[in-house]
Amino acid sequence: MSQKFFTLGTAVVALFLSNHSINAQEYPTKPISLVVPFAAGGPTDAIARMVAEPMSKILKQAVVVDNAAGAGGTVGTNKVAKAASDGYTLLLHHIGHATSVSLYRKLPYDAISDFQPIGMISEVPMTFVVRKNLAVTDFKGLLEYTRANAKTVNMANAGIGSASHLCGMLFQSALKTDLTPIPYKGTAPAMNDLLGGQIDFMCDQTTNTTGQIRAGAIKALAVTTKQRVASLKDVPTANESGLPGFEVSVWHALYAPKGTPKPVMDKLVAALQAALADPKVRDKMADLGTEPSAQNKATPDYAASFVKAEIAKWSPIIKAAGVYAD
Ligand code: ASP
Repeated sequence: MSQKFFTLGTAVVALFLSNHSINAQEYPTKPISLVVPFAAGGPTDAIARMVAEPMSKILKQAVVVDNAAGAGGTVGTNKVAKAASDGYTLLLHHIGHATSVSLYRKLPYDAISDFQPIGMISEVPMTFVVRKNLAVTDFKGLLEYTRANAKTVNMANAGIGSASHLCGMLFQSALKTDLTPIPYKGTAPAMNDLLGGQIDFMCDQTTNTTGQIRAGAIKALAVTTKQRVASLKDVPTANESGLPGFEVSVWHALYAPKGTPKPVMDKLVAALQAALADPKVRDKMADLGTEPSAQNKATPDYAASFVKAEIAKWSPIIKAAGVYAD
């Protein structure tokens, strides 16, 4: 009896494993959900839509963006951490995937062991942008204005763990001031309020700010990279405008839940690499100041070690700033 049971059990496991690998070979046979942990219309969403379209063509299945926004990106990230590891739920996240590890006292997931990185996607500078009618004309003016009006100046961000929060945190600790943060579910809704004049300023990716800067709807006072950005060459760096050494640039990566089968991972890596080589994607990214990752970085091994290094890099900086969320 127990021998029979054992044989049956072994057969069921073998059948499960062979189905699993047949499914992995045939992948994808249905649409793939690409979770973006911020609001639609924002910069992370923009990057996701830029790569989702060519990836859909290559994989011959729709890659559908799912904006699971909230809690600085941790809501969407948790959704993918808990999803089945079958390649049908993926995460596109930015630097916040690494900084949240130090910013949150407790996360509902493990940023490393719950995920399997597919590859790096892009690198994006940030910009300090202010409402059109704020009485400052340059970055030094913003530094003076915020020092003099620290109690009333407000600064938008996409929640603790977002890139805009990180940039704002670095800005405030450089100035030794505490400004009033206004959190949103992403910088798309924050941009609406900046345009409407309810928000004084924010620091956000060029992917979201370039169009409004070019249209003259907001003022760009500085970029956050060491070098000026080719697509916004008249905008000085924060480093050259009163905050020496100030530098933050945002990177994006694509992840699957831990345990995703190798044949599925291989197809996703190939699709990501082909999407990043697509001239249309490259042109669109370049126009918005975004650098697509090189092929050797759009790989699981590179992304896995990069994410670990970023967690280690930001941990002491965040600890020194003393910012935590529960
Ligand atoms: N730019 C946002 C951030 O500050 C996220 C977004 O809305 O894409 O992280």
